[in-house]
Amino acid sequence: MTFKYFDKPEIFVGFLDEKTTCDTCGEFTRCFDAEPFYGEETLAAVCPSCLEKGRLYGMDVYTCEGDFSELKRQLTERHPDLDENEIDAMAEEKTRELEKTTPHLVTWQDWLWPCADGDYCQFIGYGSRPLYNRLSRDFNGQALFESSLYYTLRDDSDADALWEEEMPRKEVRTYEESSRYSTLFYVFKSLHSDQIITTWDSD
Ligand SMILES: [Zn+2]
Repeated sequence: MTFKYFDKPEIFVGFLDEKTTCDTCGEFTRCFDAEPFYGEETLAAVCPSCLEKGRLYGMDVYTCEGDFSELKRQLTERHPDLDENEIDAMAEEKTRELEKTTPHLVTWQDWLWPCADGDYCQFIGYGSRPLYNRLSRDFNGQALFESSLYYTLRDDSDADALWEEEMPRKEVRTYEESSRYSTLFYVFKSLHSDQIITTWDSD
């Protein structure tokens, strides 16, 4: 299962333990836990199909928060021909799509969904040494990790220490495995290039 901004949510966040009634279509099926969603309206469960089809549009519910100002900055850079209103409209449309159709990523802290190349990135998994080594073209996972740190974290992250002390030695393949770590790395990929972005947090 893949969403535009979230690959394999059935593994990386999983469904509610039991089948239940989807709050937006009424079907009795596997659903995501909608309780951690943000906004004024509260939902208990939403099925993947409703999320993907945009059933949250028009509701005061969103599943994450995009880095809107950085997206606007990137779009302005990439589209010098467009005026501010056009940039705003493009950024707002992408942000709505992200926040309304993306499964909720369970994290220790709240942070903004990263963007690259004028779009939001796709979450592709939890960081680990084997994952970075595999994603790296020259088998230097540590260098890739360091260069992938999102701009918001660069000043406060000691990348060497994080790699040595906190980076999981084994793959973190599932949500259950991720919950064993008190520091987690969240790996994203640009939709438009090979660029990898990392955010991290701890409990
Ligand atoms: Zn549904």
